[in-house]
Amino acid sequence: MNANPNEDLEEMKLLGSGGHAFAKLTEQEEIKASLGVPQIFLGNIGRLNEARFTRYYCNKCKQEYTGCPMITYENPNEKLGENVTLIEKGEYRCGECNNLIALYRKFNNI
Ligand SMILES: [Zn+2]
Repeated sequence: MNANPNEDLEEMKLLGSGGHAFAKLTEQEEIKASLGVPQIFLGNIGRLNEARFTRYYCNKCKQEYTGCPMITYENPNEKLGENVTLIEKGEYRCGECNNLIALYRKFNNI
């Protein structure tokens, strides 16, 4: 086991529709989320542990904040098709003005 779990984490910029965030990702998460494009979208990352976030930028406030955006989520377990269930849907919002920074959806077929 790795003595220092933070050792392999790299700070990445994660883009959202209403801003962006900086969070520390493992290489695996980075590969999974980037989908072959240079930008990484917060929506592809899903819900990350709040401690991974270092700062975020809100387009509405036009300001950068230290720490994690607010994360709210629900687990609807909604069957959308034959083999597809919406397990979780969540939002990242600015802690100051409540602006939506990014949405994510998690399906059981991923
Ligand atoms: Zn804001």
